[in-house]
Amino acid sequence: CGIVGVTGTDKSVAILIDGLKRLEYRGYDSAGIYVNDQAGHDFLIKRAGRIANLEGALTPEVQGLAGIGHTRWATHGEPNQANAHPQYSADQRFYLVHNGVIENYKDLKAEYLSDVQFKSQTDTEVIVQLVDKFVTAYEMDTKAALLKVLRLISRDSSYAFALMDREQPDTLYVAKNKSPLLVGIGQGYNMVGSDAISMLKQTNEFMEIEDHELVIVKPDHVTIESFTNEEKHRDTFTVNMDP
Ligand code: GLU
Repeated sequence: CGIVGVTGTDKSVAILIDGLKRLEYRGYDSAGIYVNDQAGHDFLIKRAGRIANLEGALTPEVQGLAGIGHTRWATHGEPNQANAHPQYSADQRFYLVHNGVIENYKDLKAEYLSDVQFKSQTDTEVIVQLVDKFVTAYEMDTKAALLKVLRLISRDSSYAFALMDREQPDTLYVAKNKSPLLVGIGQGYNMVGSDAISMLKQTNEFMEIEDHELVIVKPDHVTIESFTNEEKHRDTFTVNMDP
């Protein structure tokens, strides 16, 4: 299973698909992408089975300046198209890719989301619906809502997340706990990926993400803060390896 994300380039679809192929070795049963062209069009494409199935479903109009991609290794819900990621909120505003397991997803669902119609059996959908709930019902901004959700996720959970908001389509909201995730610094654009190999074709400059940080990735900069809003500085490092 694996995650890729990119923001700031019109080659987003090709970069996501290439990244997912490079993550194939980690194993998967389904795959999907969400891309937004920042001109009013966005696309969600998911398929069970091989990445070739996903690629086969891409039509020429599927383009974007930013996007997220996922290969899934099912833990909650069978490997089918509805359970493939990205998972999305009922109003189709928020899109989330997730590797790992949210151990307390049933409690969160019962406490906050009894009125929400779910489309998948995944633990992941609870997280994206919860972000949407806090934004729409509690009138929080996306960052505050995500931070609230991140604080509600039990510590024994594991995750690597990349979230997109249709209303801020150049921004990737990223966090991890126990699952791998790395930022890649490109020329005029930025990336995230489960490992360096998934991004090496685009860049060899990376930034580590620690557990329990909120990382906000935009085309021209990356900010990192703790769950209690302290901003953190992070040096980049270079990996010298053939793409
Ligand atoms: N627990 C999530 C699911 O079953 C993510 C699985 C994964 O790591 O790919 O959908």
